Amino acid sequence: MESKRSAALFNEAKKFIPGGVNSPVRAFKAVGGNPVFIRRADGPYLIDEDGNSYIELINSWGPMILGHNHPMIREAVIKAMEDGTSFGAPTEREIRIAELITHMVPCVDKVRMVNSGTEATMSAIRVARGYTGRDKFIKFEGNYHGHGDSFLISAGSGAITMGNPDSPGVTVGTAKDTLLAPYNDLEAVSRLVEANKDEIAAIILEPVAGNMGCVLPEPGFLQGLREICDDEGIVLIFDEVMTGFRLSKGGAQELFGIKPDMCTLGKIIGGGMPVGAYGGRKEIMEYVSPEGPVYQAGTLSGNPIAMAAGLAMLEYLNSHPEVYVELEQIGTTLVAGIKESLTSLGLPYTINHLNSMYSLFFTDQNVVDFESAKTCDTGRFGRYFQGMLQKGIYLAPSQFESLFLSTALKSEHIDRILDANEAVLKSL
Ligand code: PMP
Repeated sequence: MESKRSAALFNEAKKFIPGGVNSPVRAFKAVGGNPVFIRRADGPYLIDEDGNSYIELINSWGPMILGHNHPMIREAVIKAMEDGTSFGAPTEREIRIAELITHMVPCVDKVRMVNSGTEATMSAIRVARGYTGRDKFIKFEGNYHGHGDSFLISAGSGAITMGNPDSPGVTVGTAKDTLLAPYNDLEAVSRLVEANKDEIAAIILEPVAGNMGCVLPEPGFLQGLREICDDEGIVLIFDEVMTGFRLSKGGAQELFGIKPDMCTLGKIIGGGMPVGAYGGRKEIMEYVSPEGPVYQAGTLSGNPIAMAAGLAMLEYLNSHPEVYVELEQIGTTLVAGIKESLTSLGLPYTINHLNSMYSLFFTDQNVVDFESAKTCDTGRFGRYFQGMLQKGIYLAPSQFESLFLSTALKSEHIDRILDANEAVLKSL
């Protein structure tokens, strides 16, 4: 596959942009080789600067649930553009999208729009702290909540309970208020809550994790967290930036029937434009400025173009429940095919899957948390990734990411993915 132009662009990009990219995973560091520079995208395809076309399973890391360049979104954006790109003043569309979100997402009585998932989680934690008057919060190892300082605390060593900065630039003072527990480990959460009685403002988690690869909550885990939060006056926050409007119309909270106190949203909510949101119970959201004392703002928040794209997307999903049936069928067919190949090739790898999210882990362990995810053979994953790319299938360039499916994947695309998958697995 010709890649001269992508290689040249990457060399040029590195002169002006740190690492040549505006978000680290894009650089292909974990899988080797140069990143592919994309010129355009359509339906299930990405087309690169050398003219290669790929069937892709990232969908802009989640948002493009109906495939790329969907005419409905495109038209909504073009129409909104005719009236100007930003006003810095309220618009009717913001009411319509907020109303729709409160209708679709069970825990949301009121919602505030922001510009990214990172902003949503940072703001949600601030509000939970303001509401409870407490400073600490619990997050789970291997969960990702954007790049806000207090979330860049990862798994690791002995400092789990007090938190260790994972990134230089995060101060020890900030890190000490982030408490860590292993995913799916209710006992660890109970111990933390006991040891930090009346000090914990929130428990935040990905209700289905996508950021250590796809990891499902074990039966009783979400329910157990709900009970702990109820008993202790802790705000339960589901970070549904990935799962919102994807696992079902109302996200993971609707699918599992567990209502958090707050949730964060992103990705699909903007139809591909930079949008995030946080929302929750009325009495908590009333703490947000200007109604309440917790400050949070944004010059471009509720941007008219972004709201037009997001509203078009959410209105479509709200009125087309068959999307979720279709996504489930696509996921089930694809994953069944991959499992068949694994069996026929005698490979012991693990697949985690729920609806339109899945990960193939290069390990023979069950993957239930960060520790088990880390047993993967990442070198082998890198060779798998490169093999798939050469066959025109574009995967997430890291073992520790979920793949995201779209309704643009038809049976011919699934067949091509499965053929490539079997051939590449055989060659490893
Ligand atoms: N939360 C979760 C669960 C995410 O997956 C991400 C991004 N992948 C974020 C928050 C941060 O969103 P953003 O990249 O839009 O800041």
